[in-house]
Amino acid sequence: MTANHDPYALAPLTAEFRDPAAEHAFRNHIQPRTARHLKTAAAIWAILALLFGWLDYHDLGMSSGFYLLFSMRILQALMLLGLILAVVRRPSLATSGWPVTLAAILGFPVMFAIFFVRPDIAAYNIGVISILLISLYVFLPNRLILNNLVAGFGLVGTLATLWLRGSEADTLVTLGIVMSLPVVTGYVAARRLHVVQRQEYALLQKVTQTNQELSAEIDRRKSLEAELQRQATTDPLTGLSNRRQYEMLFRRERERCQRQGGTMVLGIADLDHFKKINDTHGHDLGDQALRHVANIFLESLRHSDVVGRFGGEEFILLLPDTHLKQAEAVVERLREHLAETPLIAESLTIPLSATFAITPVRVDDDCIEDIIRRADKGLYQGKKDGRNRVVVIA
Ligand code: GH3
Ligand code: MG
Ligand code: MG
Repeated sequence: MTANHDPYALAPLTAEFRDPAAEHAFRNHIQPRTARHLKTAAAIWAILALLFGWLDYHDLGMSSGFYLLFSMRILQALMLLGLILAVVRRPSLATSGWPVTLAAILGFPVMFAIFFVRPDIAAYNIGVISILLISLYVFLPNRLILNNLVAGFGLVGTLATLWLRGSEADTLVTLGIVMSLPVVTGYVAARRLHVVQRQEYALLQKVTQTNQELSAEIDRRKSLEAELQRQATTDPLTGLSNRRQYEMLFRRERERCQRQGGTMVLGIADLDHFKKINDTHGHDLGDQALRHVANIFLESLRHSDVVGRFGGEEFILLLPDTHLKQAEAVVERLREHLAETPLIAESLTIPLSATFAITPVRVDDDCIEDIIRRADKGLYQGKKDGRNRVVVIA
């Protein structure tokens, strides 16, 4: 199979996809419609066969010839009923082609028998057979190549019967040419239908595939966008809000609190003696400790609180809709929780603590830096006073 192999290329004679997998998928696709179509065609065919029986009776009366034809017609109708029931049970029989081909072939002998039983209407019978030959292609859903087989059987069978009935070679040649006309016409019409059906199907598949590719591409871009958004707003080591993000959230929350008359508290946390942890256990473990602290902060605070990485081993806490007293209690609990939750890694237990400073956001604070500067003084005080404590700057 070459790189630019077209799975929807058609074989010119059979008007089927060259690629067996594509042909198989196509037949599955048209199966429900073909099954319906075949059941209708077989029912109409059975009714017509019985109606012709009535014409036989009209012309032959209760003669042995009538009995012969009528029993053949009854058999044909029963066979068609069997075909309908088989297709109801297994719709895939409709597209396989063989059951309908067999039914069509078995339908012809009654037409041949008419030449023996009613030689008076031989010309009329040839006309009916010609119509049958064209109808075969136009009305009977079947594979083109199998319809050719049925038509060939009908044509050769008719000529053979007429030969048995004593027709001259000249007559048979002429009849053969004349009766080939409906076969060729039927073949050309049916071929066109088969080609158009498959072209439509191929187009549908290509559109569906393009749509799938397009929606996969949209999904890929969406997740890329989400990833870019995440990268632009979070600190890669801890996953906490980065400076840009917590400053944006600060402005948003401050405006909201002002609108709603609430108060907001800002806190900073600085890990105690963190340099020693790095020096003793290595930078990698230091990184693990930072992630550990970030998780503790995130899981201990409210969802509406903001935790950001200020830089190094320092963190920013934004507590919207919180009074200073409440914030003090919250951060005190956080401090205790951190002090009681050491990092356990590489069979080591590394105790951690932090010094916190909190201060309310005031109306006259111009920007977040003003508030951080104020909190920073508290932090300095806390470190001086022995660390692992919460300093409140009112
Ligand atoms: P103090 O209690 O006074 O805050 O002491 P400290 O050792 O925590 O303070 P100092 O400012 O002297 O040291 C901070 C250390 O934090 C220095 C640096 O090695 C470490 N640090 C900063 N950023 C990172 C980081 O991303 N990963 C790791 N592993 N360490 C970091
Ligand atoms: Mg520091
Ligand atoms: Mg520190």
